[in-house]
Amino acid sequence: MRSSANPTEYTALTESVSGKAGLTALIVEDDQGVCDLLQRIVESHGYTTIACHTAAAAKAAFAAGFPHLILMDWLLPDMDGLELTKAFRASERGQYLTILMISGKDSPEEISTAIAAGVNFFMAKPVERQVMEIWMASAATHVHDCLQREEDDLALAKIREELADNNLQLEEAIGRANAMAMEAEQAYIEINQIFKTVAGGIILVDKQCKILRCNDAFLKMAGVERKAVQNSKCYELFHSCMCGTEQCPLQRIKKGEKYIASEIEKVEASGKTVHYSIISTPFNGPAGDLVGTVEHITDITERVKAVRALAESERRYKELSIVDELTTLFNKRYFNTHLKLEVERASRHGQPLSLLLLDIDNFKHHNDTYGHADGDRVLARLGQVIAEAVRVSDIPCRYGGEEFTIILPAASGEQATVVAERIRAGFAGVIFQPNPQETVQKTVSIGVTQYRTGESGQSLLERADQNMYEAKQSGKNRLVLK
Ligand code: GH3
Ligand code: MG
Ligand code: MG
Repeated sequence: MRSSANPTEYTALTESVSGKAGLTALIVEDDQGVCDLLQRIVESHGYTTIACHTAAAAKAAFAAGFPHLILMDWLLPDMDGLELTKAFRASERGQYLTILMISGKDSPEEISTAIAAGVNFFMAKPVERQVMEIWMASAATHVHDCLQREEDDLALAKIREELADNNLQLEEAIGRANAMAMEAEQAYIEINQIFKTVAGGIILVDKQCKILRCNDAFLKMAGVERKAVQNSKCYELFHSCMCGTEQCPLQRIKKGEKYIASEIEKVEASGKTVHYSIISTPFNGPAGDLVGTVEHITDITERVKAVRALAESERRYKELSIVDELTTLFNKRYFNTHLKLEVERASRHGQPLSLLLLDIDNFKHHNDTYGHADGDRVLARLGQVIAEAVRVSDIPCRYGGEEFTIILPAASGEQATVVAERIRAGFAGVIFQPNPQETVQKTVSIGVTQYRTGESGQSLLERADQNMYEAKQSGKNRLVLK
C-alpha cells in the first residue's frame, strides 16, 4: 500500500498499526525520485508506507501512528535527520523502532555519528536497489525482533502491574488480618479478665449441654478440678432441680427465650444447702446462629437467709403486735387475753366489769358508695372518738372489721352506758366529706352489758353482741343495756 503524507493517510497508517494489520514504514526523504524508489522497494517487502518530504510532515505522521520501520534522510529541508532520529528514539515507543538512514554523508565518522544518534542501519546514497534489498532483509529481522521485544515488554509490564496490584491487595489483607488479630487478642484478654474477676460462676454450654468454657469461680461452685470439665455436660457437674425438665434454661433458650432468671436450691455433698441465682442468655456464634447458652451463676445463700430472717421477724412482730394498725386501738388478740384477765380479776375481787360492743351502721353501703379507702377513714375516725371517750384504765379494741369492743374494768353497766353514749353522740356528730359535693354522718349501734359473777368472758361477750343486735333491730344509732 502506498501513500504520501496527507491527514487521511495518517489515519490509514494508524488503523493499520492499531489493528496489527501488518508492518508500517515511514519514509522521510525530500528527493522525490529517491522517495519513490524507496517506497516501491519497501512496499515490495509487504509494508504499508507513508512518505514525507519534510521533518514537520514526518513528525505529524509519526504522531498519528506508530511505524515499525523508518527510512530517514540526513539532510532535510527543515531539520537535521539525526535530530529527528533522536526525537523519535526519545518517544514512548522509540526503543522499538528500526531506523535506516540513507545519506550521501557516508564517511566512517559520519556513519559513527549517525549510529550514536540512534540509527540502526546506514546506507550510502545513491540508492542501489540490490544493496537496498540486502538492507531490507536485515531490517526485517530487526523489525521482527523489535516487535517481539515490545510484545514481551508489554506482557512483562502487565505481569508487573498485576503483581503490584496483587501485592497491594495482599498487603491490605495482611493489614486487615493483623488488625483483626489484635482486636481478637484484646477481646480475648478482656473476656479472660471478666471471666476471672466476675463475682460468680460463668459457663458457656453448647446446644447438647456440653460445657465449652467456664471460669474458676464455677469450678469452685461445682467442686471440681478444671480437667473434669473436658467433655462434661453441665448437668453432670452442676445438677439442679431444673435439669431434664421444661424449666431447663438451655431448652428455653433453644425455644427462643432471650433472658431467663432462675433461682435454685442445692444440697451440697457436705449437707449444706446453697441457693443460687442463674441468669441465662443465648450464646451466639459470629454469624448470629445459636451456639448454646451463657449462664451466670451467683451464690445467693446469704441473701436468701437474710430475706427469710426478715420475713420471719415480720411474722413474729405481727404476732407480738397488740395494736391495730388502722385505728391504733388494741387488736382482737389483745382483747381476748385481757377480757379473760379482767373477768378473773372481777370474779376474784368482786369488782364490777362492763363491756361495750360497737358496730357501725350501714357501713357496707358507705363502702360501696364511697370506696373502701374512704371506709377506712371512717374506721380510723371512730378509733379516735373511742380513744378520746374512754379512761386510761379502759381497754378499747378493734374486734374486727367495723366492730369494736371496750373493756371497762371497775365500771358498772350504768357507768359504761355513759361512755357508750359519749361515743355514740360524738361519732354521730362527726361530718365526713367523701367527695367535694357531699357530706355524710355515720352512726354506731352499741351493746352494753355488765359482768355477772361466775360467767365466762365468752358469755359476757355474747350478751354484749345480743344487745348490739337488739340496738340494730330497734332502729340503729342507739345503745342497749341488759
Ligand atoms: P349494719 O348496719 O347492719 O351493721 O350493716 P352494715 O352494712 O354495717 O354491716 P355488714 O356486716 O353488712 O357490712 C359490714 C361491712 O364492713 C362490709 C365490709 O366491707 C366492711 N368492712 C369490714 N372491715 C373493713 C375494713 O377494714 N375497712 C373497710 N373500709 N371496710 C370494712
Ligand atoms: Mg358488722
Ligand atoms: Mg355494721
